[in-house]
Amino acid sequence: MAKKLIVQKFGGSSVANVERIKKVAQKVVGYKRKGCDLVVVVSALGDTTDELVELANKINIEPSEREMDMLLSTGEQISVALLAMAIHKLGFEAISFTGAQVGIITDSSHTRARIIKINTDKIKEELKKGKIVIVAGFQGATLKKDITTLGRGGSDLTAVALAKELKADTCEIYSDVAGIYTTDPRIEPGARKIPAVTYDEMLEMASLGAQVMQSRSIEVAKKFNVPIHVRSSFSNHTGTMIIHPALIKKISGAKEAKMMEEVVVSGVTMNKSEAKITVCNVPDRPGVAARIFKELSSAGINVDMIVQNVSHLRQTDISFTVHKNQIGKAGKLTRKMAKLLKAGDVLEDRNIARVSIVGVGMKSHFGVAAAMFDALAKNKINIEMISTSDISISCIIQKKFAEKAVRILHKKFKLAKR
Ligand code: ASP
Ligand code: MG
Repeated sequence: MAKKLIVQKFGGSSVANVERIKKVAQKVVGYKRKGCDLVVVVSALGDTTDELVELANKINIEPSEREMDMLLSTGEQISVALLAMAIHKLGFEAISFTGAQVGIITDSSHTRARIIKINTDKIKEELKKGKIVIVAGFQGATLKKDITTLGRGGSDLTAVALAKELKADTCEIYSDVAGIYTTDPRIEPGARKIPAVTYDEMLEMASLGAQVMQSRSIEVAKKFNVPIHVRSSFSNHTGTMIIHPALIKKISGAKEAKMMEEVVVSGVTMNKSEAKITVCNVPDRPGVAARIFKELSSAGINVDMIVQNVSHLRQTDISFTVHKNQIGKAGKLTRKMAKLLKAGDVLEDRNIARVSIVGVGMKSHFGVAAAMFDALAKNKINIEMISTSDISISCIIQKKFAEKAVRILHKKFKLAKR
């Protein structure tokens, strides 16, 4: 029988210092002892990437993106070499490579490059010699041999793409969290580790603020159906599987499976990174909303939730949210447009939060939204905006109620430890 091939990825916190690098080496070697082939992807040590960004900005606040990639890719080059040395020290053979060396070919959109193809010959050759292959995450190179990076958190993408290309049996993502939780355990101590979530649920949670894995990596995993195991590098406990919906019940076990049917909400997320803009007394005629949002989008502003109230007396209010970083620019442009369109005041509110419930089971269940609104209302939390997708419902509320709302919803949907 062919040997089992495992792709393992260790995040920055898992290799933050010498002690931790040695621990990772031991973990990897443990799998090698069991007879597995291993490709190990690592991130830069601790906060190295952030520090490099800061360093660059001290020299030039708008550094060339090509040079930025040249700089940022060095972080991962340090960790792969150190991990190889740590594995050698344990008496095993390992060899480290940069992204370019193992043939990760990308387009030339520096700092957010897309992978075009991966030539896995070199990796396979080294695996055949019995070596543990260590690959620098987050990076590749263009056909012209310019070094590129794959966007922040891009080591996840390296791991998923390699797992797909090498047809690995497992893709394990190790970090300082033990898996995906029903909500942030720092807010709700009763939060429970979920045995399995679907790609879509994970994408929704990621976009709503649960930062466990890079979204792009989940999209690739979904496209090629690569099962992912998110787990802690500090223990041997199983974490959370991110998988195709058809596998959910199998993974969750028979007992859990029965229950799964009734679980419509998988998790509660919260996000404080948005701000709200309201344009008052907008004339109610065709094309007005189009003009405001066209102006914003051509300035590169990402508008998220939009609500337009019913009009009374041929006037209406339009509210929308943008990322806090863009509120200054967005406010200015909106005021310009309001004046032009003869609308009223433009109000800005930075003190908002988004709370959301996520779950694939919601699609076929009535009353989930009503239950959410009811729980918030009973606790006197006012809902300012609402948006829904196939598998999520989000409410904008005042920021000071955010944590409370998370706890209320976690309880309402019975997500606590069972
Ligand atoms: N070191 C890179 C970052 O911090 C890539 C990664 O950690 O996945 O964004
Ligand atoms: Mg990192």
